[in-house]
Parts: sequence; C-alpha cells; structure tokens
Amino acid sequence: MQICRTRSGIRALRENWAGADVILAPTMGFLHDGHLSLMRRARLRAGKEGRVIATIFVNPTQFGPGEDLESYPRDEARDVALLRAEGVDAVFIPDVREIYDPHAQTIVETQELAKILIGKLRPGHFRGVATIVTKLFNIIRPLAAVFGEKDFQQLAVIRTMVRDLDMGIEIIGVPTAREADGLAMSSRNVRLSPADRAAAPILHAALAEAQALAATGITASRLRSHVRARLGSEPRAQVRSVDIRDAESLASLSGPLSRPAVILLAVSFGSVLLIDNCIVHPAKETP
Ligand code: AMP
Repeated sequence: MQICRTRSGIRALRENWAGADVILAPTMGFLHDGHLSLMRRARLRAGKEGRVIATIFVNPTQFGPGEDLESYPRDEARDVALLRAEGVDAVFIPDVREIYDPHAQTIVETQELAKILIGKLRPGHFRGVATIVTKLFNIIRPLAAVFGEKDFQQLAVIRTMVRDLDMGIEIIGVPTAREADGLAMSSRNVRLSPADRAAAPILHAALAEAQALAATGITASRLRSHVRARLGSEPRAQVRSVDIRDAESLASLSGPLSRPAVILLAVSFGSVLLIDNCIVHPAKETP
C-alpha cells in the first residue's frame, strides 16, 4: 500500500493508474469496522483491476468553535496497518497546510440542506464537509466514492452537491456497522465514559421501537414524541434533536406516514455528540 502525504504525490499515483477504476473512501481516521466496511464496498466496486484509495484527514473546517477538533482521536500507525490488511491500494494522509491555502476564497455549500438538522446544531459543518469532499474529488478524480449511511445528512449533502454541480462521480451509501449491543460504530465512542458507553445503546433501542411502531399507522409527530420520550428516560442522555423526515428529500413530515421516512437522532453524552438514524416504513394498506 502506498502512503502519500502531498497532493502532487497522490496525483502522480493517480496518473499511473489512469486506466483503472479508482474508488475513493474518505475518512477522518481512528478507523473501526464501519470504516473497514466502506473499504470492502469500495473494493467490490473497484473489482480486481480497479484501485481503492482511502484518505485520512481530520478536516478542521467542519469543526465549529468549542467542538472536539483538538481531542478528536488519532492513531495513524494503527490506521495504516488496518488499511494495509484490508488490501487498500493507497492512502492519502495530508496535513492541514497541504490542503488549505491560507488565501483560499472558495467554498461549496448545499444551501438549505446545510442549515437543517445537524446543520442547525453545528453551523458551518456541512460547508466544511462539502468543500473538503470537493477538494478530494478534484485531487483524486475517482470514478466513485463510498460514504456511510450513519451520517445520513452528510450522504444527502454529497449526493445533492454531486448532482447540482455535475461532478459525475458515483456516490455509494454503505449501511451502518454496529457494536453487538446496537451502538453505531463511531471514532467518538472511545471518548464516552464507561457509564455513558453503557447508556448509549438507547439510541438504537429507540430507533428499533420506532420501526415497529411505524408499521402500526402512527402519525409522524406521535412517533417523534415517542422516540423523544424514550431517549428522555435515560438521565445521561441530552437529547439534541429528534426528527422524522422524508427519506428521499429530507422534507418535514406530519400526519400518517405514506412513504418511507428517516428518523434522525442527535444525542449528547457529556461532551460527546452521537448520531444515528433508521428508515421506517408506513403501515401496509389493508385492501
Ligand atoms: P468519519 O471518519 O467519521 O468521518 O467517517 C468516514 C466515513 O465512514 C463516512 O462516510 C462515515 O459515514 C463512515 N462511517 C462512520 N461510521 C460508520 C459506521 N458505523 N458504519 C458505516 N459507515 C460509517
């Protein structure tokens, strides 16, 4: 596996692979099995002849003031070993100065989509995400890129940006990898105290209950209240947002569900913000 730290280095490698299908898997490192499932999906898309390029970059522009940029967990040596064992062909690990010119003028923003849900809790977050992903696309010029469904709104932002700006890159969503107790894998999970770690599977439990309830014909607002109350029963959980949206457009919903919807959760345990989501289906109409 090649390790590149400069834009010119990864570009030169990319040029050597000009005839191959290149699949990109961007990450912020501190890899877990969820990231590795992205690598496997990328390999599947690349085939034997194609190439998989991972990136590790803790992108400062997607962190707000007072967020966890400094304390974000990092372990490059372990990450490189995991990617090598997974058969990834190259990893791009730039430092911040390699990526951001202090005189840069341009940003990429999915205007309304960046303001709702997590965008409300973390103003500017999706501008940072859309801009870094655009830069990585332009540096590496992949055929396709893989992103986790765990970050549901991020996936929507990237799909929208690719469509709106005619980027012509295939975006592949990968299902959420979970711990045995249902907690969605996240690099941030190691920052949970033991008591918070024990309480955190409540996100998944609340989503699983909501899935069963949705099939009973409940309205979106009652379903939302139910999930909120369930999360509220855990004293360690600070519920930051609970939303039910159209799974395709992320438009707000009220009344009985008539199409697949997504329930999106953002819950803090101490200073650690966890997110999770699931798709729910409306009750089947009885003839
Ligand atoms: P991150 O390093 O947290 O920025 O994540 C890098 C990529 O891995 C993103 O596309 C995430 O959506 C994806 N990812 C993170 N956690 C999981 C998970 N538990 N299952 C699947 N994909 C994930």
